[in-house]
Amino acid sequence: MSIAGGFLKSLELARNLRSTALQIFSASPRMWAGPGRKVDPGEAEEFRRRRAELGLAPLVIHANYLINLAAPDDRTRALSVSGFRGELERAVALGADFLVVHPGSRRDSTIEAAVDRIAGSMARAARGMNLGSLRILVEITAGQGSAVGSRIEELRAILGACARLPVGVCLDTAHLFAAGYPIHTQEGMDGTMAKIAREIGLDRVRVVHVNGSKALFGSRVDRHEHLGLGQIGLEAMGRIVNHPALAGRAFILETPIDQPGDDWRNVSALWRLAGVEWKQPLDSPAAPADGFRPRRKAARGDQTQTR
Ligand SMILES: [Zn+2]
Repeated sequence: MSIAGGFLKSLELARNLRSTALQIFSASPRMWAGPGRKVDPGEAEEFRRRRAELGLAPLVIHANYLINLAAPDDRTRALSVSGFRGELERAVALGADFLVVHPGSRRDSTIEAAVDRIAGSMARAARGMNLGSLRILVEITAGQGSAVGSRIEELRAILGACARLPVGVCLDTAHLFAAGYPIHTQEGMDGTMAKIAREIGLDRVRVVHVNGSKALFGSRVDRHEHLGLGQIGLEAMGRIVNHPALAGRAFILETPIDQPGDDWRNVSALWRLAGVEWKQPLDSPAAPADGFRPRRKAARGDQTQTR
């Protein structure tokens, strides 16, 4: 959900879309917030009160995209540590349940060295903090460029190295698919979940980003698509969101908004996969009530993403 109109507005947007959980950024996702960027205490209190009233849970915060906890160069890593410190502080202030972060890019260093740096950076960022019930979730990646974390084994190594912190995992259907995990077939989905259970433990998986993929299977390219469009398909999505291994997890959409109503169409499609039929958003009877029927495929090269 957008925080363009303030944190409180994001709660009303989620409510209107009949969401029961939400993910937000706590600052601009593609700019450094500055180390001192805090949430106004009064606004944070009002936000926590209203969220409890609406019963929206869990609250997931997605960390800034510039943060690279694995960065080999000292300057980027220092910026990333202080940026991540700010993310942790704002997440605690807003009462978030989960803070999702990408593991980062290793550039030309080894995976092992990158895992060590991720653990060190996270420990430095969290030093002396009381995280309360906040849990840090490391997100699986598509493996684009030198991104760490596109293999389940790499996530296991990161969790192992960060064992002193409350860490878990965030899955993403588009990333798993592009990273070469065949979640679009029944056997592939079963096998992938069995592998996660073996390597990481299913209890460490707390949030699932549900996104279609414009990018091909195994392409290692991160391009989100509407549910039911793109390469994964609606039938496979139904198997994924109803898979017994993922029961009780928070499912969060990070699908594009190419035209007005796309957010509602994707939310209602997700509910329908879970067996719930909503005819329209709560407060917007004028909004499209025709469910998810995308009128056009996104133009080639369109990289619009909302989170
Ligand atoms: Zn994601």
